[in-house]
Amino acid sequence: MAVRTGKYYDAAETVPPKERHALLEKRLHLAVARAYRLAPATRDMMDKTGVRPSDIRSFKDLEKLPVTRKMDIIELQKSHPPYGGFLTVPQEEVERVFISPGPIYEPLHSSRIEWFARAFWAAGFRQGDVVVNTFTYHLSPAGMLFHEALRHCGATVVVTGVGNTDIQLQAMRDLKVNGFVGTPSFLMALIKRAGEMDLDLRKDFAIKKAWFTGEMLAPSVRKTLENEYGINTSQAYGVTEPGGAIAYECGQEAGMHLMDEYFTEIIDPRTGKQLPPGEIGEIVVTPLHNKAWGLVRFGTGDLSSLTYEPCPCGRTAHRLTGIYGRAGDAVKVRGMFVVARQAEEAIIATGKVGRFRLVVTRSGERDELTLKAELKDESADRESLARELNEKFQSACRVKIDFIDFILAGTLPEKYQKLSDERKWE
Ligand SMILES: [Zn+2]
Repeated sequence: MAVRTGKYYDAAETVPPKERHALLEKRLHLAVARAYRLAPATRDMMDKTGVRPSDIRSFKDLEKLPVTRKMDIIELQKSHPPYGGFLTVPQEEVERVFISPGPIYEPLHSSRIEWFARAFWAAGFRQGDVVVNTFTYHLSPAGMLFHEALRHCGATVVVTGVGNTDIQLQAMRDLKVNGFVGTPSFLMALIKRAGEMDLDLRKDFAIKKAWFTGEMLAPSVRKTLENEYGINTSQAYGVTEPGGAIAYECGQEAGMHLMDEYFTEIIDPRTGKQLPPGEIGEIVVTPLHNKAWGLVRFGTGDLSSLTYEPCPCGRTAHRLTGIYGRAGDAVKVRGMFVVARQAEEAIIATGKVGRFRLVVTRSGERDELTLKAELKDESADRESLARELNEKFQSACRVKIDFIDFILAGTLPEKYQKLSDERKWE
């Protein structure tokens, strides 16, 4: 159920869309101007492209700037240690430094770490809850930031961190833990272990809600947790390099609302151009809140799409529709990204195809998409199956399959790519 009142569901979340748009554009302009003034790496990048801070007034203007990726930050931090020219405050004002794989050193200014609390509040975490926080408390920001956000909502946090399955389970029983924060796969591992110990999750534990990030929450896992174990689930999307949570679910389980602490774009990773709502592309974020970090247009490498549809919860921020994989797992076919995972869900949903391979080729000026599908049952009606496959595929991926070849089970080699781009560009 949507939460409609309280400390972290307030005027800021329900501001009329036009006002939010204007506010974010203003913040974006200020953030870019600040980064230009104080972060040498961003100033260099903008000078090289000939763009002045005064040129960045609207969301669309951001397209004039290149996307900075993880590898760029790693290289810059090597050549300009320790922060690569992105630090925008004097060193003594950095409150904490997180370290992401790379390594990447991420400074955080002391102000405004409360924004995370919105995600937990929306998921129903409150005073009186006892929550295991199973994210790591060292190096990366997850453990500490989630801990503080849960505290802002009033919840008691059990500082378990990662791993230690048996201790986690014991603590969950002894302390009557009713909330879990971690990855879906770790919660599933805990449930499995409880089963091995002859414990019944519903009877022997008090767990009623779970909050996930860091990993895709598969619809089947969500269903199992909610229906079989009575656990209310919520998820959020975040990346460590630009400083944390970017979008979160509100209780409707219909996409994740964007945080106003970032400006988020969905782009075509090859051109850097923004894509309209409904089209899948790379998530690119510009932090607007972290005063220590002058990063502009960080390319996350994750794929999603946006929806501008109003949400019944009353929050007016646009939503990410889901996370569909990594930019490398997608191929653009006739202008639309086909994502391996989405394609797989659509094809498997017919129940009649085992393994499959999608191949993109080029015929004249047109991309062609061929599906090679291993039939589970040789006697299946191929014509109606082909129709069903194309219907499901089109509604998920918005592109039509041109040719469907049914092949015998076991025809595809043991190791193969499900989505293969065999176009030759000459
Ligand atoms: Zn909502």
